[in-house]
Amino acid sequence: MPYSEMGKKIDDSPEPIPQRTFHKATHILPISSPPIYDGIVVLENGTIIDVGPSEFILQTYNPVQEHSLLVEHGEGVILPCLVNAHTHLELSCLSGKVSPKADFFSWIKELIQARQRCSQEEVEKGILSSIKELLKEGTGLVGDVSNTGSSILPLRKSNLIGRVFIEAIGFCHQKERENQKFIESIVAHTPFEEKDITLSLAAHAPYTVSSRYFQILHNSFMYKDNPFSIHLAESPEEAIFLSQGSEKITSLLMERDAWDPDWVPPRKTPVAYLFQQGILGSRTICVHVVQVSDEDIDILMRTKSHVCLCPRSNHNLGVGLAPVEKFLQKGISVCLGTDSLNSNTDLSMWQEMMYLKKIVPSISSAQILKMATLSGAMALGKTDFGSIEVGKHTPLLFVPLINTCGKDIEDALLFEGQGRGVQWIL
Ligand SMILES: [Zn+2]
Repeated sequence: MPYSEMGKKIDDSPEPIPQRTFHKATHILPISSPPIYDGIVVLENGTIIDVGPSEFILQTYNPVQEHSLLVEHGEGVILPCLVNAHTHLELSCLSGKVSPKADFFSWIKELIQARQRCSQEEVEKGILSSIKELLKEGTGLVGDVSNTGSSILPLRKSNLIGRVFIEAIGFCHQKERENQKFIESIVAHTPFEEKDITLSLAAHAPYTVSSRYFQILHNSFMYKDNPFSIHLAESPEEAIFLSQGSEKITSLLMERDAWDPDWVPPRKTPVAYLFQQGILGSRTICVHVVQVSDEDIDILMRTKSHVCLCPRSNHNLGVGLAPVEKFLQKGISVCLGTDSLNSNTDLSMWQEMMYLKKIVPSISSAQILKMATLSGAMALGKTDFGSIEVGKHTPLLFVPLINTCGKDIEDALLFEGQGRGVQWIL
């Protein structure tokens, strides 16, 4: 976006292109520190070199010198771009095609069938329109789960930054081998790390990935030093399956020709089972985490695992609400994701934040904004993002807000701003 569209330009020297820009607004929300009233963020070649009250910044620097530009954004908030830590862009083609069912596994069956009916052209169209939607809403960093690798190239061509988690699914030996080869072929034909979109591994869920396959994933070079994502403790049926076996899940796996007749229930909760597999840890993003006991929450805390909530998806699929207050009380790092357009109406992180605030009003808006920025960036291993701190390179947003005098700025941002008129500061 040209500077002229972002705010009033004070310094009008046209050339050369400014190397240092001063972005001034009535409010700066650094996330990692308290909000600043009447503040300035100083950027130099895309790096944040300072942030503070206008008076202090203007005494320290000279924003009208050569190669500098002061941009007055006016009334509103400058904050880091949003982070959607869990979505499935390649399922965007299913938007409106699969209605949530009373039964979670009936929904999964319909999802699989509908996905098979989507052409590659529809998949690609869905990915591109979702990328557009994410950027329009101010999401700059994304954790995308992919079964085919279809989203890698469109993401690398876009302005989004993030990770594509290539998802492993394999419950019987034959399926594990097929799936592993398929993942290896995606990685073999795709540069592992390129243009800010890096590849990682994900496992679908404890009921679709065998214990043996977890160990293979664990030993993979893609697992080493990279974030790892897994849907965990989402539906009550998943917990039943692991504690005593479930006919619904067994029949789903049988229909997919993926059932292992030698399998016996580990008689553990999903979280305790994953812990036993050695999968939990500070690089693991546990997505959903609805069906958990207090002991499970202690395991997540001790292992420093990240929890990614998708509250609207959970509501739409009728699986319940994750105990978010308990997670926060235990100091667990909680981030937010929209999940796919198959289980959610849109990919708006603003809507996700507002929904969470509505159903759990005891959580502060500041905590929710942290989930949608800094905690998401930490979970995705992109530590340059998520907060306005010296040395970081995160793209920034400006959200216009009026009549904020005397109000909590984080509340005003969620309830009144709602992401309307988001402008990028690049
Ligand atoms: Zn998901």
